[in-house]
Amino acid sequence: MNGDICMQKHRDLTLKRLQTFQKLLESKIYTKAMPVELSHFAAPGRIKVEEAMHAQYQTVTLGTRFQPFWSTHWFKVHSIIPNDWEGQEVHFLWDSSSEACIWVDGQPKQGLTGSNNGYSDDPVRSAFPVVLKATGGEVVNLMVEAAMNNFFGISTSDPRKNEGIGWLRQAELAIFDRNVWNIYWDYVIVADMARYLPQDSPRAGQALFAANQMVNTIDWDDLTSFQLAREIAAEFLSQTNGEGQHRLSVLGHAHIDTAWLWPIAETKRKCVRTFSSALNLMESYPQFRFVCSQAQQLNWIKLEYPALYQRIQKKVRAGQFIPAGGTWVEPDTNVPNGESLVRQFLYGQKFFDQEFGAISEIFWEPDVFGYSAALPQIMRLAGVKYFLTQKLSWNEFNKPIRHSFLWEGLDGSRVLAHFPPVDTYNSLATVKEVLFNVKNYQDHERSKESILLYGYGDGGGGPSVEMLEQIARMGNVDGLPLVEHRSPQDFFERLEHDLKDPTVWVGELYFENHRGTYTSQAAVKLGNRRCEEKLHDVEFLSSLAMLFSKSPYPFEELLELWQQVLTNQFHDILPGSSIAEVYQDAKAVYKEVLANGDQLRKKALKSLLKESEGYTLVNTLGCRRLEVIPLPEGSSGQQVIDTGEILGVVEIGPYQLQPLETTKKQENRIVQIIEDQHGFTLENDFVQVKINMNGQITSLIEKTNHRQCIAIHEFANQFVLYEDLPYDYDAWNADIYYAEKIKHRPVANQIRIVESGPLRVKIALEMKVGKESTLKQTISLTAISTQIDFETWVEWQESHSFLRVLFPLNLRSSFATYETQYGWVQRPTHYNTSFDLAQFEVPAQRWADFSEPDFGISLLNNCKYGYACHGSVLSLSLLRAPKDPDPNADMGAHHFSYALWPHALTPQLSTVWWQAAQFNQPLQFVKGLPVQNDLQLFMVNAPNIILDTIKAAEDGDGIVIRMVEVAGIHTKSVLYWKNEFLLVETCDLLERKLESVAHSGKKLEIDFKPFEIISLHFHAD
Ligand SMILES: [Zn+2]
Repeated sequence: MNGDICMQKHRDLTLKRLQTFQKLLESKIYTKAMPVELSHFAAPGRIKVEEAMHAQYQTVTLGTRFQPFWSTHWFKVHSIIPNDWEGQEVHFLWDSSSEACIWVDGQPKQGLTGSNNGYSDDPVRSAFPVVLKATGGEVVNLMVEAAMNNFFGISTSDPRKNEGIGWLRQAELAIFDRNVWNIYWDYVIVADMARYLPQDSPRAGQALFAANQMVNTIDWDDLTSFQLAREIAAEFLSQTNGEGQHRLSVLGHAHIDTAWLWPIAETKRKCVRTFSSALNLMESYPQFRFVCSQAQQLNWIKLEYPALYQRIQKKVRAGQFIPAGGTWVEPDTNVPNGESLVRQFLYGQKFFDQEFGAISEIFWEPDVFGYSAALPQIMRLAGVKYFLTQKLSWNEFNKPIRHSFLWEGLDGSRVLAHFPPVDTYNSLATVKEVLFNVKNYQDHERSKESILLYGYGDGGGGPSVEMLEQIARMGNVDGLPLVEHRSPQDFFERLEHDLKDPTVWVGELYFENHRGTYTSQAAVKLGNRRCEEKLHDVEFLSSLAMLFSKSPYPFEELLELWQQVLTNQFHDILPGSSIAEVYQDAKAVYKEVLANGDQLRKKALKSLLKESEGYTLVNTLGCRRLEVIPLPEGSSGQQVIDTGEILGVVEIGPYQLQPLETTKKQENRIVQIIEDQHGFTLENDFVQVKINMNGQITSLIEKTNHRQCIAIHEFANQFVLYEDLPYDYDAWNADIYYAEKIKHRPVANQIRIVESGPLRVKIALEMKVGKESTLKQTISLTAISTQIDFETWVEWQESHSFLRVLFPLNLRSSFATYETQYGWVQRPTHYNTSFDLAQFEVPAQRWADFSEPDFGISLLNNCKYGYACHGSVLSLSLLRAPKDPDPNADMGAHHFSYALWPHALTPQLSTVWWQAAQFNQPLQFVKGLPVQNDLQLFMVNAPNIILDTIKAAEDGDGIVIRMVEVAGIHTKSVLYWKNEFLLVETCDLLERKLESVAHSGKKLEIDFKPFEIISLHFHAD
């Protein structure tokens, strides 16, 4: 051994030496550079390239700052490669401290991401290869479209973060030294292994020696030394693994939030930048695979950037660009209802199938705030058997104890789930992350396989050359896992084969974080709920019109409306975690969907009704209904109210249209209200309710079962305003400590009777809430039900406050029950374990229920999603006031309702599902009489079998209906229908035939398993 170059044994100092040398090496990748001619056009908005090509440009210099934030600036770049650059690889280098895109001949070629990008101070993608081997004298003409925002938009909470955005720092041509580049990445891998392998491992020592030897070998003036240094690296990196090594499938990916800290309009450009960059990389790195989820994003490219879309289709055929995920967007799964989740898959898979010839077997949801227990069945019925996320690594209380397991849903359906162990979907594919991936993997005893998702994400970006160079060197190196580019389908098939004795996780994958997202941005939740109902109604009425009146079914219009609603279910729109502009867009979408939905409803009704003097009552739900409703002007009824309207009782069958007059019933039962000095007593045959002058319920006696429902000495309908100051993630998080600090307990300052029976009694109250807000409420009870309704209007002007309404109940149970999509889940009412404690706030659909085995109380809502039940206090989350990322989130007027429904039997057996449906969708009448007397399609004989959807079949042939068992009971049911159908088949959620069904006459016996979803296709006659 030559003593002069003997490695000195001081690990830390040697590592510092390696770091210093690495920076020097990096600085030599580009040798010569020259400025380009640059001219600039400040665009009026996000314009087309054609418009930008013909605009007026003016000369501009480096150092200029382009503003305002969110503005678009186009640049024309002109240069001639010098003759003495002959033979060199030439790159264009650009840094506008913002996002940008290179255009050549009117086509997007590659995204660029400058400094101050949210990931780092330095640019993460600044180079665009112009020519691999210059001849000298080539004319370079490019266009750059720069968007004055970074990956993460513009910070709304910390303006200092934005100070660096929009500065033009670099615009030049430069010679790229591929020799140095290659050595640099060899060196990075070896040095990182020295740094990040366990210090006491043989390979860490060997790596330290090899990297240090490379430093000693490289002589900047002697090109042969470069070759010697590469040989040192090659020798080290060629030492391979044993057969037992972990196998890591690396998947290129860009998590592009469909909207978040930027509006949808910017997302489309993020897609262009990201997809064009990925396509470029595919040319240089044939092994590279890029996974792309969210049909909506690909559809935007198809419609608005057709040439880019063609390039994508070509690479899909080549197996490099891989559409995956199966859904329209990556949706939130707490708030959308069951049919919405179905449509996410139906329209997502349909798009993938039509455009790329195959559906996806993988549900791709890396970044969603909790996963409904309904999903495994919905996935299975939509052709999906694999599930990927990593979000639960963010759990605050309990980190996932498995990374590869079977996930079993409500009905027992199972899918194979994998959580990439690196705990991010935005890995940079470094040695450090690859090693952490293996160390963190919880299932080594069961499988050798795991996934690493690499690529800049959230705001798009995707994989970079730096990532690919590192992966290229990590294939089979002793000390690292086996690293291979693989498609997600390949990965899951390998995992399925390899996973031994898998563990099973049963039920929801509750996310122990971001619990404020059940409540933030109330208007988007309200909009989503009303649109889901509207589309449900329109589909039923249009089906009826198609069958009874031969009216054409509005396929295209409905598809477009559904797609708009589904897009807004994206996991940062519906949860309420986006910027203000996103919610302005969402509001406009809901307004349009509701208006267009109304038009379609009217059109369907027009063909079902004849113009005449009378009215028709329309029941769009699958249950028989008996309700008190306001009747049309001039009708005879039983109670005149202060609006001048007349109340009457009507009764109608499921999914039925009937002349209003034939549905009216003379009601003999009455409801009364008495006022005394303590408050009000509301009483009918079923309940007696006492309300104090504060507007709180002090007693609620259910008379049939002789039950006092309210906890003794407690007050129900009790409003509490808490301080709501999350330590992080303002709009996302309601932290466990919020309940410790009460700011205000608002009570009524005015209260009076507004309706006195006999069909309905109602009191109205007003109160101040907090410092600036007011709340008005009516509390009503009809003669025919135990249900107490609370209709509420709030003018909300609070800051970092959480308004909840509490119902301390005289019941005892260790769990409460909450509606989830197509069923229910139970969650603890105590904090015994960290898992119980973590669920201090939980999502639900339209109801939560707190019951003993023979009696209970449901709390219904018409647009809310956050509940809690601790001890015996059931509560509903009403409003929050986060200030980031939307400083005005939830400020202004709100109108919502909730209801308390005491009932015998448990919710599984009761009709709480229907009770909540009716509460959300009050009966409506329309002018005109039905074209025939009995406009009704289907009926089911079991109350727990919900006929939830009636729609035209996607293939245009007949009707598809969806039925669900929602009580958790094996059930024998009979479905009846009235029309002639040629053929009945069961089908999956994509409406693919499962099997033919033999039926006798116009009825069909169907056996349901608990929570089973069954879709039937009735072919037209
Ligand atoms: Zn996301």
